[in-house]
This record gives sequence, structure tokens and C-alpha cells, in this order.
Amino acid sequence: MKNYTDLQHKKVLVLGLAKSGVAAAEILHELGAFVTVNDSKPFDESPDAQGLLQKGITVICGRHPEDLLDEGFELVVKNPGIPYSNRIVADAISREIPVWTEIELAYLISEAPFIGITGSNGKTTTTTLIFDMLNKGNKNPLIAGNIGTVACGVAKEATQDHVIVTELSSFQLMGTQTFKPKIAILTNLYDAHLDYHGTFDNYAQAKFAVARNQDSSDYFIYNADQSIVADYAARSNAQKIPFSVSSRTENGISADDTMIYWQGEPYMERANIALPGKHNLENILAAVAACILIGCEKEKMEEVLATFGGVRHRTQFVREWNGRKIYNDSKATNCLATKSALDAFQVPVILLAGGLDRGHSFEELRPCMHHVKGVVAFGETGLRFVEFAKSCGVSQTVIAQNVEDAVHYAAPMSAEGDVILLSPACASWDQYDSFEIRGDVFIDAVMKL
Ligand code: ADP
Repeated sequence: MKNYTDLQHKKVLVLGLAKSGVAAAEILHELGAFVTVNDSKPFDESPDAQGLLQKGITVICGRHPEDLLDEGFELVVKNPGIPYSNRIVADAISREIPVWTEIELAYLISEAPFIGITGSNGKTTTTTLIFDMLNKGNKNPLIAGNIGTVACGVAKEATQDHVIVTELSSFQLMGTQTFKPKIAILTNLYDAHLDYHGTFDNYAQAKFAVARNQDSSDYFIYNADQSIVADYAARSNAQKIPFSVSSRTENGISADDTMIYWQGEPYMERANIALPGKHNLENILAAVAACILIGCEKEKMEEVLATFGGVRHRTQFVREWNGRKIYNDSKATNCLATKSALDAFQVPVILLAGGLDRGHSFEELRPCMHHVKGVVAFGETGLRFVEFAKSCGVSQTVIAQNVEDAVHYAAPMSAEGDVILLSPACASWDQYDSFEIRGDVFIDAVMKL
């Protein structure tokens, strides 16, 4: 950990506990700050708060006092999930008290450089790929952020020989001030989280914050196929590394049907890459570019790309069964994600879909339904999804009780060479507590076939 002294004797409020709040409070305390934590959970029910109190940190639990900020705090570190409309956060901003998320703290104390990955889709896949390739190439990566451990906890342990690979949500990025990754990646920008950010512009600005502080010693890897991203990148001070799946980029990374090109020159064959889909090719390009910049050997990247079957629940290859390839894309909780998954396959698909009914239409999927030869639908939207599939000309449709039942219907519908794909286009909460549990049920049923 860097000997960071600027927070010594400063009064800091940590808002919201959970894993990231606890880690932030402990580090701030170690850095010599006077820390107070405030969390809605009552003290008796919060082992986290009890542990912090024992370390000499002030805890205020089970309530949020009206006059909390009158105590003269100089900094607020908030959990990324707490919105800016929250009374205390809004009050802090009106008093011009800086409001951070723990990623800013992680950056300030870290001896290791950061690779920061953001975007509407593909963050986890890109982050995991980079981590696996750097690991194989002995580049000492540490993974942090949304997946795995809390960034400031990881940063505390990191040395100059490490590189921290971190997935960054827009919520985390909004709470950064000086955060400056060595390599920033922006995978794409789609309408998302507008309930939190209000407008698309606010959301885009939060994402662009990943590259805001970069200078000419840093790199910005971005999606050149999206004009809004490319326009922003044009104003960046970093060395620009565009990626594109549609045209050859002279200063970045691109691909055609057979080859990946680095700075316009053939770099890597695509034939042995396991991960399917154009969307995943984008993730691969961004990840390969980052690993080239870190100095990872190409052969090590190729070894990983030949076996990397996707992150669990994200177009994840589960198994081959009697000549059918079976994929779990339970993370696809909206049409956009299911569209990417369907576009990834050229062979006939048996699609398992349905779930929580938010009243959303499935029309967005229509252009990618041409190779869907069977649909097994389940959950609240089961009936609506079957009607939609029929209107697209899908001849075999059936409604199943649940995901396990759906696997049993899908198996006899399929033929050798087909793909069986769970990509529900709906959230799981009507029948399962999370998309992870829904995906696990699917994997179990598929393994029993
Ligand atoms: P995130 O962490 O940003 O949510 P994931 O890597 O977990 O992204 O992927 C979530 C889903 O989004 C996947 O199941 C896939 O269907 C879709 N997806 C992944 N990468 C991309 C991409 N580059 N462009 C569009 N959709 C994508």
C-alpha cells in the first residue's frame, strides 16, 4: 500500500456498509482518518458494524440522523448502490463535500497500475478474459471490483509488480475524482440504468469518466463502431486504441472472418477461438489489445482463447450432448442480451426463454429469430413468448413449468448439429431468486441428460 498521507486526521463519513464499506472504513482508519460509518441496519444485527467499532471506528447504525453532516466531515465515501438523490449524499454535494466510491480510494493507495473496464455490456467477460490471459502470461494480475473482491481491499495488497484488472460500473465511476487507469476500456454504450442516471447523457458521462483523467502515458481502448464512443474518444488525451469488428483500424485492433489485426497487420488466427458471437469478438479484441499493451505473449493469449468458454451464465458453453452444443446465457435478462446470444449462432437453435413479466415486448428479437427452430418458454411470460415465436414462424413451441422442465422438452426437439440455448430475455425473479440460480438449475438439468 502506498504511504498516502492526505487523509490523515480528516473526518470521513462512510455511507453504507456491506463488503465495500467495511473495506473502505478499515483502510481509511489505517490511513489515519477519523472515520464514522453510517448504515441502515441496526447495530445488533450487524456483525460488520460491531467489528468496526472494536477497531475504534465510530458507528451509527439503524438510523440516518438529520444533522449527520453538521459534524464537519471533509469527505464522504458511499456505497456505489446509494443514489445521488439520497438525502445525505445530496446534502454533502450541496455543502461541496467530495463524495467518492471506494474505487477512488483504491486508486490512491495502490502501488499497482489499473486496467479499468466499463461499458453497458461485456464488462465481466472482458475483465475475466484479460485476467486469465495475463495470468497465463505470468503478468501478476489481480482481479477487483464487481466480480471477486472489493477494489480497495485488493489495492491494499498490490505491489508494483502487479496489475489490477477491475470491472467498473457507472455507479462506481461517478464517485471518482483522480482515478486514472493505465489502460481504460469502454466496451459499448447502450440505454441502461436510466432509472438511476435520469438521462442517457448522464449515463454516458459516468462511463466516460473511466478515461477522463488519462494523459499521453495512458491508453484508451474503445469501441470505434459506436459513433458516440468514437466521438468522445477523439477528445481523449490518452493514446487511442480503437477496436472494430467492421473495419480495419490502422492504430488499433480489428478482425475479419479469419484473422485479428493489430495496428493493421495480421496478428492472430480466429480459427481456434472458442467463444462464439460477434459481441464476444468485440470483448476479445478489447482484451487482446490490453494484454498486448501489458506485454503478454501471444501464445499465452491463444492458449486461453482456445479454451475460454465464456463466464458462467454468459453464453457459457455447458456441454456437447449427442452432437448438440448446449449454452447457458441465464444472464440475458433483457432482449438486447438475448439478441447478442442468438446472433452468435448460425446453426438451428432451440431457444429456452421467458421469466418475469415487465410488460416488455419481444419485437426486438424478431430479426434474429430466423434460425430458431424451436422455442420452449416458461415463467410469467411463457405464453406471450410462445405467441411471439409463432408469429416469427417458429414451428415447434411448447410451454414448460420451469427451466428444468424446459430442458426435457428441448432435448427431443433438437437434432444433431443444433444449439440448445437458455437465453431468457427476462429477469428470473418470478421463479428464481437470481439469474445465477436459474442458470445453475439449467446446468444441473443439462448435465443429467
Ligand atoms: P456485463 O458485466 O457488462 O453485464 P457480461 O460480460 O456479464 O457483461 O455479459 C452480459 C450479457 O451481455 C451476455 O450474456 C451477453 O449476452 C451480452 N454481451 C456481452 N458482451 C457484449 C458486447 N460486447 N456487446 C453486446 N452484448 C454483449
